[in-house]
Amino acid sequence: MAVKVDKEKCIGCGACVDTCPVSALEMNGDKVQVDEGTCIDCGACVGVCPVEALSL
Ligand code: SF4
Ligand code: SF4
Repeated sequence: MAVKVDKEKCIGCGACVDTCPVSALEMNGDKVQVDEGTCIDCGACVGVCPVEALSL
């Protein structure tokens, strides 16, 4: 399991990248990308996304 990114919704603000405690998120162009092997499903990023593009 890993957090899911709705790429239709993501506006590339980068807020979630700074929130992840294990650095599982990085920007790829104007969308965020999840390293599924690194994500620990903590949910920290979900609440900071202004457009609700992240879900567990
Ligand atoms: S759920 Fe937690 S570990 Fe996974 S990408 Fe979001 S902040 Fe990082
Ligand atoms: S916080 Fe949301 S809109 Fe911003 S980069 Fe992350 S997923 Fe995209």
